[in-house]
Amino acid sequence: MFNIFVSVYVTMLGLILGSFYNVVALRIPVGKSIVSPPSRCPKCGTRLKGRDLVPVLSWILSSGKCRYCQAPVSGLYALGEGVTGLLFLWVYLRTGLSGESLVGWVLVSLCVIVSVSDLKYMLIPNKVLLFFLPVLVLLRIIYTEESIWNGVLGAVVGGGIVLLLALAGGMGMGDAKLFVLCGWVIGFPNVILAFLLSSAIGTLVYGMLMLLGFIKRKQPVPFGPWLAIGTIIAYGYGSEIIGGYLSLIR
Ligand SMILES: [Zn+2]
Repeated sequence: MFNIFVSVYVTMLGLILGSFYNVVALRIPVGKSIVSPPSRCPKCGTRLKGRDLVPVLSWILSSGKCRYCQAPVSGLYALGEGVTGLLFLWVYLRTGLSGESLVGWVLVSLCVIVSVSDLKYMLIPNKVLLFFLPVLVLLRIIYTEESIWNGVLGAVVGGGIVLLLALAGGMGMGDAKLFVLCGWVIGFPNVILAFLLSSAIGTLVYGMLMLLGFIKRKQPVPFGPWLAIGTIIAYGYGSEIIGGYLSLIR
């Protein structure tokens, strides 16, 4: 059931959590605390006030600059916040308010945090994966329409495919561990679809960036964000896409 108040509330919750996820994603990989110190401008060190920390809006209103020293502020923060807000709304619109919404919100949270970390540091932090592991294992056991073995199969197949690619040097071990978790949540055969989508989107984006000269051939590039996007699409639309495909080839 669509409800405008719940939609606004859920989106705002996503925006605020997204702001916190940025902090987690940017501080955990460099071993900093996520509770203190409060956010400061990395350039001039001015402690940021409430009006500097409104998700997305602050960044737009200050034209992407620090209000105190005019240093440019990376759009990655606002992007992380905005995407989290939209994904929280999307999960609600797909699942209503149910146990599955919890699974969806936790899954997109994981996806946002690892994507920001991977884009910034080319690293998917173990600490983040280890935090989400028990939560997602438990939630998927409590709220599932399939048998638990479907999740296990998804985790093994997903982790297996990316592990092979990691050993061949195409992806990282962090990607493999992430995809074990994603496979557990979205199950089989969704995990195959997620992998194919990730590869297609990643190849397309990096192919374009290479053609345009932004990255060099053989330059290491993060793959976590594409695994995250593939997982989210397969999570939301996997049965429709796979069903449509099977009816085409039959
Ligand atoms: Zn500043």
